[in-house]
Amino acid sequence: MKFVSTRGQAPELGFEDVLLAGLANDGGLYMPVDWPKFSEDQIAAFAGLSYQDLAYRVIRPYLGENVDDANVRQMIDAAYASFHHKAITPLTQLRENDWLLELYHGPTLAFKDVAMQLLGQLFDSVLKARQKKITIIGATSGDTGSAAIEAMRGRDAIDIFILHPHNRTSEVQRRQMTTVLDANVHNIALEGTFDDCQALVKAMFNDVAFRNAVSMAGVNSINWARVMAQVVYYFYAGVALGAPHRPISFTVPTGNFGDILAGYVAAQMGLPIAKLVIATNVNDILTRVLDTGVYEVTSVTPSSSPSMDIQVSSNFERLLFDAYGRDASAIRGVMNSLQQSGRFALSTEAHEWIKQRFDACRVDEAETLSTIKQVYGETGHVIDPHSAVGVAASQHCRGDHAIPMVTLATAHPAKFPDAVGKAVGDAPDLPPSMADLFHREERFDVLPNDLSQVQAYIRGKTRV
Ligand SMILES: *Cc1c(COP(=O)(O)O)cnc(C)c1O
Repeated sequence: MKFVSTRGQAPELGFEDVLLAGLANDGGLYMPVDWPKFSEDQIAAFAGLSYQDLAYRVIRPYLGENVDDANVRQMIDAAYASFHHKAITPLTQLRENDWLLELYHGPTLAFKDVAMQLLGQLFDSVLKARQKKITIIGATSGDTGSAAIEAMRGRDAIDIFILHPHNRTSEVQRRQMTTVLDANVHNIALEGTFDDCQALVKAMFNDVAFRNAVSMAGVNSINWARVMAQVVYYFYAGVALGAPHRPISFTVPTGNFGDILAGYVAAQMGLPIAKLVIATNVNDILTRVLDTGVYEVTSVTPSSSPSMDIQVSSNFERLLFDAYGRDASAIRGVMNSLQQSGRFALSTEAHEWIKQRFDACRVDEAETLSTIKQVYGETGHVIDPHSAVGVAASQHCRGDHAIPMVTLATAHPAKFPDAVGKAVGDAPDLPPSMADLFHREERFDVLPNDLSQVQAYIRGKTRV
């Protein structure tokens, strides 16, 4: 399988190079040259497979020819051994034909573990084969950093540096990062905001001398391998609820558009999906672009679902690539416009193409809390604010009630004790694996918001 950049001016690469590159060097995102497709019979034969066996079948077509199948199976098994539920991503019923897909049973209690755990295995395997070492540098407002650290800890070929805004993450989120004491893990508490952290990572990436000196790599959600790993659970839920013999709909709490893009990919691969509902909180750039055809960046409003508080939804570029019939020059055009004026207008055809496949719904803070309360009252299940945005949107965009609706539950409620406590009275307990989180030793260094000082720190510590 070869991969092409959405902006058409970077070399075509194979899977392993796409994995290590992250972003294409023309600023675009990598997409497979075409979509591998399963027949109805093949999908019917997925029924009853374990999550791991299904994962093997879904991701195998992307990995290319010269991969050792036994090694792939072993990586998948190792990735999901860290999950605390035998089904990996279990389905829970909320109402008639209404389901929750629980994606938060991994080591850091958010859905990002599903992809990141596999990414850790993939990186390790490729780096060993190439006898190469890398330095992963990332910025986080919470969930991505902890999932990445947990996936990369203790690996010989990888050093990981995660910048978080000092005193601006929740204590659970900070401790999930700073209590990992492996020698290859480095937490930087930056004296600044999340945007400052992100700006520094971007500046380091654009500093070619530095990037090459430390073999810098990224793990943010534009990495194709993360999208690929997330396709699996759409098939897992879909087949459990009757696909390919009946269509299924999904609602996805969305920020960077990675998770819901994986649903689009599942549909391209043959899963009969009736509707994909984009659920946003008050940071509603995606809802607005569906309603108006104009993608326009505004300022971020902090909400109780912070992992969806975004301005620019980076994976949306992958959808645009298909919406514009894979015309890379059209993508360069809209992305230039975005960079110069903070906005672009979709062509009529692209807007229609997207509306045929997606619905979108914005959920405000009051409804987020009342939905946590409502689900708890009706079912006894406690859901987190991100999942609640999804459930509320799924109710608004329900459509045909004969079609099963699956809402993706993206975080464990114990990760967001304040909002959940406000809605249901009690703050939920951390699960047993994390019960002593508040008593563990922490390690991090506070650094000023200064590029050269952060670079000097990383150069001094990386083993590359
Ligand atoms: C990252 C995250 C999201 C948003 O996922 P995207 O792939 O960026 O759309 C939603 N919920 C939680 C809990 C997250 O951590």
